[in-house]
Amino acid sequence: MFGRGATLGRRLASTAAASGAAAATAYGAWPMQRSGEQRPARCDTDPAVLGASLVGGLVAGGVGGWLLGKSKADAVEAKYQKYWPRKIMMVFGAPGAGKGTQGVKIVDELDIPQLSTGDMLREAVAAGTEIGKKAKEVMAAGQLVSDEIVIGIIADRIKEEDCKSGFILDGFPRTLPQAKALDEMLAKSGESVSLVMAFDVDQAVLEDRVCGRWMDKASGRSYHVKYAPPKSMKLGPDGKPVPSTMKDDITGNALYQRPDDTAEALKKRLDGYNKQTVPILDHYKPGGVVKQIDGGRNIHEVWAEVQTKLSTGN
Ligand code: AMP
Repeated sequence: MFGRGATLGRRLASTAAASGAAAATAYGAWPMQRSGEQRPARCDTDPAVLGASLVGGLVAGGVGGWLLGKSKADAVEAKYQKYWPRKIMMVFGAPGAGKGTQGVKIVDELDIPQLSTGDMLREAVAAGTEIGKKAKEVMAAGQLVSDEIVIGIIADRIKEEDCKSGFILDGFPRTLPQAKALDEMLAKSGESVSLVMAFDVDQAVLEDRVCGRWMDKASGRSYHVKYAPPKSMKLGPDGKPVPSTMKDDITGNALYQRPDDTAEALKKRLDGYNKQTVPILDHYKPGGVVKQIDGGRNIHEVWAEVQTKLSTGN
Protein backbone atom coordinates (compact mmCIF):
# COMPACT_ATOMS: atom_id res chain seq x y z
CA MET A 1 0.00 0.00 0.00
CA PHE A 2 2.85 2.40 0.71
CA GLY A 3 4.48 2.43 -2.71
CA ARG A 4 1.10 2.51 -4.35
CA GLY A 5 1.95 4.38 -7.54
CA ALA A 6 5.14 2.44 -8.13
CA THR A 7 3.46 -0.88 -7.40
CA LEU A 8 0.64 -0.15 -9.78
CA GLY A 9 3.09 1.01 -12.40
CA ARG A 10 5.04 -2.23 -12.14
CA ARG A 11 1.84 -4.29 -12.20
CA LEU A 12 0.70 -2.38 -15.26
CA ALA A 13 3.98 -2.98 -17.05
CA SER A 14 3.96 -6.70 -16.33
CA THR A 15 0.31 -7.07 -17.38
CA ALA A 16 1.03 -5.30 -20.66
CA ALA A 17 4.14 -7.39 -21.22
CA ALA A 18 2.22 -10.58 -20.53
CA SER A 19 -0.54 -9.54 -22.93
CA GLY A 20 2.02 -8.63 -25.56
CA ALA A 21 3.69 -12.01 -25.14
CA ALA A 22 0.32 -13.74 -25.35
CA ALA A 23 -0.42 -11.87 -28.57
CA ALA A 24 2.97 -12.77 -29.98
CA THR A 25 2.28 -16.40 -29.13
CA ALA A 26 -1.16 -16.21 -30.73
CA TYR A 27 0.24 -14.86 -33.99
CA GLY A 28 3.78 -16.13 -34.18
CA ALA A 29 3.16 -19.58 -32.67
CA TRP A 30 -0.08 -20.32 -34.50
CA PRO A 31 1.45 -23.25 -36.49
CA MET A 32 2.75 -24.85 -33.26
CA GLN A 33 -0.64 -24.72 -31.56
CA ARG A 34 -2.29 -26.38 -34.48
CA SER A 35 0.43 -28.98 -34.96
CA GLY A 36 -2.02 -31.87 -35.22
CA GLU A 37 -3.87 -30.32 -38.14
CA GLN A 38 -3.16 -29.87 -41.79
CA ARG A 39 -1.16 -26.72 -42.05
CA PRO A 40 1.15 -25.15 -44.57
CA ALA A 41 4.80 -26.03 -44.14
CA ARG A 42 6.77 -23.14 -42.73
CA CYS A 43 8.55 -22.63 -46.05
CA ASP A 44 5.14 -22.24 -47.79
CA THR A 45 4.28 -19.18 -45.75
CA ASP A 46 5.04 -15.81 -47.30
CA PRO A 47 7.71 -14.34 -44.97
CA ALA A 48 6.31 -10.83 -45.53
CA VAL A 49 2.84 -11.91 -44.37
CA LEU A 50 4.32 -13.76 -41.43
CA GLY A 51 6.44 -10.75 -40.47
CA ALA A 52 3.53 -8.33 -40.78
CA SER A 53 1.35 -10.64 -38.69
CA LEU A 54 3.97 -10.86 -36.02
CA VAL A 55 4.52 -7.10 -35.83
CA GLY A 56 0.77 -6.41 -36.01
CA GLY A 57 0.18 -8.96 -33.28
CA LEU A 58 2.80 -7.50 -31.03
CA VAL A 59 1.43 -3.97 -31.49
CA ALA A 60 -2.24 -4.92 -31.17
CA GLY A 61 -1.55 -7.26 -28.29
CA GLY A 62 0.69 -4.74 -26.61
CA VAL A 63 -1.81 -1.87 -26.88
CA GLY A 64 -4.75 -4.07 -25.94
CA GLY A 65 -2.85 -5.53 -23.03
CA TRP A 66 -1.74 -2.11 -21.91
CA LEU A 67 -5.33 -0.80 -21.97
CA LEU A 68 -6.54 -3.85 -20.08
CA GLY A 69 -3.74 -3.48 -17.56
CA LYS A 70 -4.44 0.22 -17.18
CA SER A 71 -8.14 -0.23 -16.51
CA LYS A 72 -7.34 -2.94 -13.92
CA ALA A 73 -4.73 -0.70 -12.32
CA ASP A 74 -7.20 2.21 -12.25
CA ALA A 75 -9.77 0.00 -10.53
CA VAL A 76 -7.25 -1.15 -7.92
CA GLU A 77 -6.15 2.43 -7.33
CA ALA A 78 -9.76 3.56 -6.92
CA LYS A 79 -10.21 0.88 -4.23
CA TYR A 80 -7.07 2.01 -2.43
CA GLN A 81 -8.31 5.59 -2.50
CA LYS A 82 -11.67 4.56 -1.14
CA TYR A 83 -10.82 2.08 1.60
CA TRP A 84 -7.23 2.52 2.72
CA PRO A 85 -6.09 5.30 5.05
CA ARG A 86 -3.61 7.85 3.76
CA LYS A 87 -0.02 7.41 4.87
CA ILE A 88 0.49 10.48 7.04
CA MET A 89 4.03 10.56 8.28
CA MET A 90 6.47 12.99 9.81
CA VAL A 91 10.24 13.21 9.60
CA PHE A 92 11.34 14.57 12.94
CA GLY A 93 14.70 15.79 14.21
CA ALA A 94 16.98 18.75 14.90
CA PRO A 95 18.33 20.96 12.09
CA GLY A 96 20.89 18.84 10.21
CA ALA A 97 19.49 15.53 11.48
CA GLY A 98 18.86 14.33 7.92
CA LYS A 99 15.12 14.97 7.54
CA GLY A 100 15.53 16.58 4.12
CA THR A 101 18.07 14.06 2.83
CA GLN A 102 16.15 10.98 3.90
CA GLY A 103 12.83 12.63 3.06
CA VAL A 104 13.77 12.84 -0.64
CA LYS A 105 14.47 9.07 -0.59
CA ILE A 106 11.19 8.31 1.17
CA VAL A 107 9.35 10.31 -1.52
CA ASP A 108 10.86 8.01 -4.16
CA GLU A 109 10.03 4.91 -2.17
CA LEU A 110 6.42 5.76 -1.25
CA ASP A 111 5.37 8.02 -4.11
CA ILE A 112 3.92 10.59 -1.76
CA PRO A 113 5.10 14.22 -1.49
CA GLN A 114 7.35 15.73 1.15
CA LEU A 115 5.84 18.91 2.58
CA SER A 116 8.58 21.07 4.04
CA THR A 117 7.28 24.20 5.76
CA GLY A 118 10.85 25.56 5.66
CA ASP A 119 10.93 25.21 1.84
CA MET A 120 7.47 26.72 1.49
CA LEU A 121 8.44 29.68 3.66
CA ARG A 122 11.71 30.18 1.75
CA GLU A 123 9.71 30.24 -1.48
CA ALA A 124 7.35 32.81 0.04
CA VAL A 125 10.35 34.93 1.08
CA ALA A 126 11.88 34.69 -2.42
CA ALA A 127 8.54 35.59 -4.03
CA GLY A 128 8.07 38.54 -1.63
CA THR A 129 4.51 37.51 -0.64
CA GLU A 130 2.82 38.87 2.52
CA ILE A 131 3.73 35.68 4.39
CA GLY A 132 7.28 35.89 3.05
CA LYS A 133 7.68 39.47 4.30
CA LYS A 134 6.50 38.45 7.77
CA ALA A 135 8.76 35.37 7.87
CA LYS A 136 12.02 36.74 6.42
CA GLU A 137 13.68 38.29 9.48
CA VAL A 138 12.39 35.67 11.89
CA MET A 139 13.80 32.87 9.76
CA ALA A 140 17.21 34.47 9.23
CA ALA A 141 17.52 34.85 13.02
CA GLY A 142 16.80 31.14 13.49
CA GLN A 143 13.48 31.73 15.27
CA LEU A 144 10.08 30.22 14.64
CA VAL A 145 7.43 31.73 12.39
CA SER A 146 4.00 32.08 14.05
CA ASP A 147 1.88 28.95 14.53
CA GLU A 148 -1.00 30.65 12.75
CA ILE A 149 0.99 31.11 9.53
CA VAL A 150 2.39 27.58 9.29
CA ILE A 151 -0.86 25.87 10.31
CA GLY A 152 -2.65 27.82 7.54
CA ILE A 153 -0.01 26.80 4.99
CA ILE A 154 -0.27 23.09 5.87
CA ALA A 155 -4.07 23.06 6.09
CA ASP A 156 -4.23 24.28 2.47
CA ARG A 157 -1.40 22.11 1.19
CA ILE A 158 -2.71 18.74 2.39
CA LYS A 159 -5.95 19.25 0.49
CA GLU A 160 -4.10 19.19 -2.83
CA GLU A 161 -4.48 16.33 -5.29
CA ASP A 162 -0.94 14.97 -4.86
CA CYS A 163 -1.64 14.32 -1.16
CA LYS A 164 -4.53 11.96 -1.81
CA SER A 165 -2.42 8.85 -1.01
CA GLY A 166 -0.55 10.50 1.85
CA PHE A 167 2.28 12.93 2.59
CA ILE A 168 5.49 13.36 4.57
CA LEU A 169 5.63 16.35 6.90
CA ASP A 170 9.10 17.86 7.20
CA GLY A 171 9.62 20.66 9.72
CA PHE A 172 5.97 20.63 10.80
CA PRO A 173 4.68 20.48 13.50
CA ARG A 174 7.36 22.31 15.47
CA THR A 175 5.34 23.25 18.55
CA LEU A 176 2.69 21.44 20.58
CA PRO A 177 -0.06 23.84 19.44
CA GLN A 178 0.90 23.00 15.81
CA ALA A 179 0.72 19.26 16.58
CA LYS A 180 -2.69 19.64 18.19
CA ALA A 181 -3.94 21.74 15.27
CA LEU A 182 -2.72 19.04 12.87
CA ASP A 183 -4.51 16.31 14.86
CA GLU A 184 -7.73 18.32 14.76
CA MET A 185 -7.47 18.90 10.99
CA LEU A 186 -6.94 15.19 10.40
CA ALA A 187 -9.65 14.11 12.85
CA LYS A 188 -12.23 15.94 10.73
CA SER A 189 -11.72 13.29 8.05
CA GLY A 190 -11.27 10.44 10.56
CA GLU A 191 -7.51 10.43 10.05
CA SER A 192 -4.45 10.60 12.29
CA VAL A 193 -0.66 10.63 12.05
CA SER A 194 0.45 7.10 11.15
CA LEU A 195 4.23 7.34 11.55
CA VAL A 196 6.73 9.70 13.17
CA MET A 197 10.28 8.91 12.11
CA ALA A 198 12.55 10.55 14.67
CA PHE A 199 16.25 11.03 13.78
CA ASP A 200 18.62 11.09 16.78
CA VAL A 201 21.91 12.89 16.13
CA ASP A 202 24.59 14.16 18.49
CA GLN A 203 24.64 17.99 18.70
CA ALA A 204 28.36 18.28 17.78
CA VAL A 205 27.63 16.34 14.58
CA LEU A 206 24.72 18.67 13.79
CA GLU A 207 26.91 21.77 13.78
CA ASP A 208 29.45 20.10 11.52
CA ARG A 209 26.69 19.04 9.10
CA VAL A 210 24.76 22.31 9.05
CA CYS A 211 27.74 24.61 8.63
CA GLY A 212 29.13 22.65 5.65
CA ARG A 213 25.78 22.23 3.92
CA TRP A 214 25.01 23.39 0.36
CA MET A 215 21.59 22.89 -1.22
CA ASP A 216 19.98 22.60 -4.63
CA LYS A 217 16.83 24.71 -4.43
CA ALA A 218 14.79 22.90 -7.07
CA SER A 219 15.27 19.30 -5.96
CA GLY A 220 16.08 19.72 -2.26
CA ARG A 221 19.26 17.67 -2.76
CA SER A 222 21.84 18.57 -0.19
CA TYR A 223 25.63 18.37 -0.34
CA HIS A 224 28.36 18.76 2.23
CA VAL A 225 31.84 20.17 1.67
CA LYS A 226 33.43 17.24 3.58
CA TYR A 227 31.00 14.32 3.52
CA ALA A 228 29.16 14.69 0.20
CA PRO A 229 30.87 17.31 -2.00
CA PRO A 230 29.41 18.01 -5.44
CA LYS A 231 31.57 16.64 -8.26
CA SER A 232 32.26 20.19 -9.49
CA MET A 233 33.67 21.49 -6.17
CA LYS A 234 37.09 23.22 -6.28
CA LEU A 235 38.88 24.54 -3.20
CA GLY A 236 40.44 28.01 -3.07
CA PRO A 237 43.88 28.88 -1.57
CA ASP A 238 42.19 29.21 1.87
CA GLY A 239 41.02 25.59 1.65
CA LYS A 240 37.37 26.67 1.39
CA PRO A 241 35.12 25.77 -1.56
CA VAL A 242 34.98 28.34 -4.38
CA PRO A 243 31.23 29.26 -4.46
CA SER A 244 31.03 29.44 -8.28
CA THR A 245 32.18 25.79 -8.47
CA MET A 246 29.37 24.50 -6.22
CA LYS A 247 26.91 22.95 -8.67
CA ASP A 248 24.25 20.24 -8.51
CA ASP A 249 25.63 16.91 -9.81
CA ILE A 250 22.54 16.19 -11.89
CA THR A 251 21.31 19.54 -13.26
CA GLY A 252 24.45 21.69 -12.93
CA ASN A 253 22.36 24.36 -11.15
CA ALA A 254 24.23 26.66 -8.76
CA LEU A 255 23.98 25.43 -5.15
CA TYR A 256 23.27 27.82 -2.29
CA GLN A 257 23.86 28.03 1.46
CA ARG A 258 20.90 28.83 3.68
CA PRO A 259 21.28 32.12 5.55
CA ASP A 260 20.36 30.36 8.81
CA ASP A 261 22.98 27.60 8.37
CA THR A 262 25.51 29.42 10.55
CA ALA A 263 26.88 28.36 13.94
CA GLU A 264 25.21 31.40 15.54
CA ALA A 265 21.71 30.81 14.10
CA LEU A 266 22.05 27.07 14.77
CA LYS A 267 22.38 27.73 18.53
CA LYS A 268 18.97 29.46 18.52
CA ARG A 269 17.44 26.83 16.28
CA LEU A 270 18.64 24.03 18.57
CA ASP A 271 17.43 25.88 21.63
CA GLY A 272 13.97 26.26 20.06
CA TYR A 273 14.04 22.62 18.95
CA ASN A 274 14.81 21.29 22.44
CA LYS A 275 12.26 23.49 24.21
CA GLN A 276 9.38 23.62 21.74
CA THR A 277 9.71 20.73 19.32
CA VAL A 278 10.99 17.74 21.32
CA PRO A 279 7.80 17.65 23.51
CA ILE A 280 5.90 16.70 20.34
CA LEU A 281 7.44 13.23 20.55
CA ASP A 282 5.83 12.67 23.96
CA HIS A 283 2.54 13.77 22.43
CA TYR A 284 2.69 11.05 19.74
CA LYS A 285 4.45 8.23 21.67
CA PRO A 286 1.34 6.87 23.44
CA GLY A 287 -0.18 6.24 19.99
CA GLY A 288 2.69 3.84 19.19
CA VAL A 289 3.56 5.66 15.97
CA VAL A 290 7.03 6.98 16.89
CA LYS A 291 10.07 5.14 15.49
CA GLN A 292 13.60 6.22 16.47
CA ILE A 293 16.40 6.22 13.91
CA ASP A 294 20.11 6.51 14.68
CA GLY A 295 20.76 9.45 12.32
CA GLY A 296 24.44 9.92 13.24
CA ARG A 297 25.73 7.42 10.65
CA ASN A 298 26.37 7.90 6.94
CA ILE A 299 23.48 8.48 4.50
CA HIS A 300 23.37 4.86 3.23
CA GLU A 301 23.36 3.29 6.68
CA VAL A 302 20.63 5.64 7.87
CA TRP A 303 18.60 4.91 4.73
CA ALA A 304 18.83 1.17 5.34
CA GLU A 305 17.28 1.64 8.80
CA VAL A 306 14.65 4.04 7.46
CA GLN A 307 13.59 1.51 4.81
CA THR A 308 13.18 -1.22 7.41
CA LYS A 309 11.15 1.04 9.66
CA LEU A 310 8.92 2.36 6.88
CA SER A 311 7.10 -0.94 6.86
CA THR A 312 4.74 -1.46 9.75
CA GLY A 313 5.64 -3.76 12.62
CA ASN A 314 9.35 -2.85 12.93
P1 AMP B 1 13.70 24.29 8.13
O1 AMP B 1 14.00 24.35 6.68
O2 AMP B 1 12.68 23.23 8.47
O3 AMP B 1 14.93 24.20 8.99
O4 AMP B 1 13.00 25.69 8.49
C1 AMP B 1 13.67 26.92 8.31
C2 AMP B 1 13.01 27.99 9.14
O5 AMP B 1 11.66 28.17 8.70
C3 AMP B 1 12.89 27.68 10.62
O6 AMP B 1 14.07 28.00 11.34
C4 AMP B 1 11.74 28.60 11.02
O7 AMP B 1 12.12 29.94 11.08
C5 AMP B 1 10.80 28.45 9.82
N1 AMP B 1 9.87 27.32 9.98
C6 AMP B 1 9.81 26.20 9.23
N2 AMP B 1 8.84 25.38 9.66
C7 AMP B 1 8.28 25.99 10.73
C8 AMP B 1 7.22 25.64 11.62
N3 AMP B 1 6.55 24.48 11.51
N4 AMP B 1 6.90 26.52 12.59
C9 AMP B 1 7.55 27.69 12.72
N5 AMP B 1 8.56 28.08 11.93
C10 AMP B 1 8.93 27.24 10.93
